[in-house]
Amino acid sequence: MIESHSVHGIDDDNFTFLSNQNQSSEYNSAIANLANKYEKKSAIDILKWSIENFGNKIALASSFGAEDVVIIDMMVKIDKTKTKILTLDTGRLNQETYDVMDEIRKKYDISIESYFPNSEEVEEMVRGKGFNLMYENIENRKLCCGIRKVNPLNRALASLDGWITGLRREQASTRLNIKKIEIDSSHNNILKINPIADWNEDMVWKYIKKNGVPYNKLHDKGYPSIGCEPCTRAISKGENRRSGRWWWEESSQKECGLHLDHSITKKI
Ligand code: SF4
Repeated sequence: MIESHSVHGIDDDNFTFLSNQNQSSEYNSAIANLANKYEKKSAIDILKWSIENFGNKIALASSFGAEDVVIIDMMVKIDKTKTKILTLDTGRLNQETYDVMDEIRKKYDISIESYFPNSEEVEEMVRGKGFNLMYENIENRKLCCGIRKVNPLNRALASLDGWITGLRREQASTRLNIKKIEIDSSHNNILKINPIADWNEDMVWKYIKKNGVPYNKLHDKGYPSIGCEPCTRAISKGENRRSGRWWWEESSQKECGLHLDHSITKKI
């Protein structure tokens, strides 16, 4: 059991992190109360609380898009020694993404934990369905995301008490209702922290410019978000930002499985 302490003005005296396995209604309501209290707190305050309470048992899962580099800069400034960053190297990333990963690694003098897909699963998939299977149908695309992203993320999160994301509510219709602190029912009920859930895009870019944060140069080429090379593209002015991902699919299907809320999908 991990007892949390009231820090940085966040009123969390009543919060007790019971355990990864705990699924009690008491736990659920404690987290719901916590989320309500934290809704108005700043990203920095939430990250301080997360890092101080969970240390290296919490990590940012980063695709090295604009939101993620903002959070990395904040985490390093809070406590570099407890800044834990993981990333999923799907084997299909853009060169620009490797460039910014190295820039970040060198600038902040931190290591980045890469998680790769299981090689046998990838080999079997591409032997059976080809290299560009994702364009053929939604099942193939989800299979590829499952093998290259979801399974490695599950492995990465298995030993953690929580993870941090750069999700923002305005990014997609599927993200409108995210809380800054949630229970991740897809990953053993660990905490999921979304410290910039209420930020808009302008706030992200102002932070990057003001603080000189290295960013992915794909953004300069019109990419609103960063993902795998075959499934991510630049958009034109006025186009919906989600049209930069899996543009051949219906918008309601555009999640890779990393951020699915299974408590919702079970009800559908
Ligand atoms: S985003 Fe595309 S390439 Fe990447 S894992 Fe999903 S389907 Fe495969």
